[in-house]
Amino acid sequence: MYKFAVFGNPINHSLSPYIHNQFAQQTGCEISYDKLLAPVNGFVSSVQTFINQGANGFNITVPFKLDAFEFANELTLNAKIAGSVNTIKIKADKIIGENTDGTGLIKDLTHNIGIKLKNKIILILGAGGATQGILFPILKQEPNQVIISNRAQSKAVRLAKNFSKFGNTCSISLNKIKHESVDIIINATSASLDGRMPNIAFSVANNAVCYDLMYGRQTPFMNWAKTNHAKMISDGLGMLVEQAATAFEFWTGTKPDTNKVLNNLRR
Ligand code: NDP
Repeated sequence: MYKFAVFGNPINHSLSPYIHNQFAQQTGCEISYDKLLAPVNGFVSSVQTFINQGANGFNITVPFKLDAFEFANELTLNAKIAGSVNTIKIKADKIIGENTDGTGLIKDLTHNIGIKLKNKIILILGAGGATQGILFPILKQEPNQVIISNRAQSKAVRLAKNFSKFGNTCSISLNKIKHESVDIIINATSASLDGRMPNIAFSVANNAVCYDLMYGRQTPFMNWAKTNHAKMISDGLGMLVEQAATAFEFWTGTKPDTNKVLNNLRR
């Protein structure tokens, strides 16, 4: 029996136990998967207790992905480049940190939605932890250009510079995005959580694929995309399921079928 959990604060809303239990049923793996609230300043002691109880691994969500990065004593390439960790595997004395967010997004965009990123111009709104996690996997798809735009512009400038060794990146301030002709817009801000929309010009959505990392509700960004003639609109539910599947495979070596779980969740 594998022992897993997800740590966050808050954590009640998490769909991860449902998703991982569905994967376990499908694949015949025996697992327990809890959602555990860690105090904001108590991540390390909470996860250490869980490890002492015989845990095989755990997921990490807001606000602990940077704490998890520090806590791991070994990192995958994805995690190292992202500078944040959303999945930990325990193997003897090793605490291996991985970041599956970017892989999850790429699988959702390319497999489930069916769009190619190669040679595309991609605009990413936001420069927080999620953007750090998705940038390297996106750049591996060889887009023509990735434009990063953030409310605090210095963060976008820093990310564009740090990731320029992996592809063509640049930054632009939010209120200057006006006439860019982009193929894909990814809303990786947390503005949707507060029912808000990053302040950018309408014309940019025209004929672009618009993807919000947020899931579980129709967001202001998705409404904005619809009003402004986006070619295609998606929330981030597919990314959530795909990043979970990558974590499940990282832990158990077994690849689950994400379609069934995604369909169940959409219903
Ligand atoms: P962070 O807190 O690290 O970053 C938040 C980002 O949003 C910052 O760039 C911030 O800008 C920006 N922002 C917040 N409010 C606004 C606003 N009103 N207008 C413009 N920009 C704003 O969060 P994460 O990067 O970890 O997460 C971002 C989103 O992605 C969350 O909604 C999260 O739920 C979602 N997510 C979804 C996943 C999935 O599987 N579908 C996986 C991971 C994340 P500034 O720097 O200026 O403050």
